[in-house]
Amino acid sequence: MRKKIVAGNWKMNNNFQEGIDLTNELIENFKPTDLNKQLVVCPPFIHLNAMAELFTENEIRLGGQNCHTSEKGAYTGEVSAEMLKSVGVRYCLVGHSERRAYFFEDDQELFQKIKQLLAKDIQPIFCCGEMLEDRKEGGHFDVIEDQLELLWKLSKTDFQKVIIAYEPVWAIGTGQTATAEQAQEIHKFIRSRIAKKMDEAIADNASILYGGSCKPTNAAELFSKPDVDGGLIGGAALEANDFLGIYNAL
Ligand code: PEP
Repeated sequence: MRKKIVAGNWKMNNNFQEGIDLTNELIENFKPTDLNKQLVVCPPFIHLNAMAELFTENEIRLGGQNCHTSEKGAYTGEVSAEMLKSVGVRYCLVGHSERRAYFFEDDQELFQKIKQLLAKDIQPIFCCGEMLEDRKEGGHFDVIEDQLELLWKLSKTDFQKVIIAYEPVWAIGTGQTATAEQAQEIHKFIRSRIAKKMDEAIADNASILYGGSCKPTNAAELFSKPDVDGGLIGGAALEANDFLGIYNAL
């Protein structure tokens, strides 16, 4: 069955105490509506261990924001999939547009990260999305098709563990949300690519999230679309009420 997910990406926000306070607020107010609707929080690394302890009795799951392409070794400043696993991480972002733009992550690197995560049984949340210029030129479908290409190298078993997040770059942190129709059009396209490259059943079960200025006020409309299975949330994940309001719209 296709899983519905709302995942929050804190990015480089919240010092340790702020992270604990927000976690406690989430725990106090989170009421899971359905076991098939998952809430995930992806904080900076420094929060993971303490949050894992606070989440032990809770249905909220932990996600990482990044991991290294190698298993271990002399990579100063980096964190491996194995390390994420050891603190209870179940999901991890891969290919967020900020990492592609500021850290020049390319397809080969993203593929290695996905392999590292899958080897540790962590579900990658693979982000894709076009720039404004691409959309203006009508090239958005081609961009998405290209970005998805690396996923077709995975076995069917591995692919089924991957969650895809469609995040148009022009909508991230700008307040300019894609319309529900724009999101649906691309999500449907992504699902059709999965059907072609994997198979219909895998496509039908794949969770495809929307990200880009999703808020409690527009979440219900986005999530009402048949191919939108939840959201990847940036700014609105920093306020417990907003983040849970988006979850409740699932
Ligand atoms: C993101 O960074 O993944 C994101 C969707 O950010 P925002 O919700 O702030 O647009």
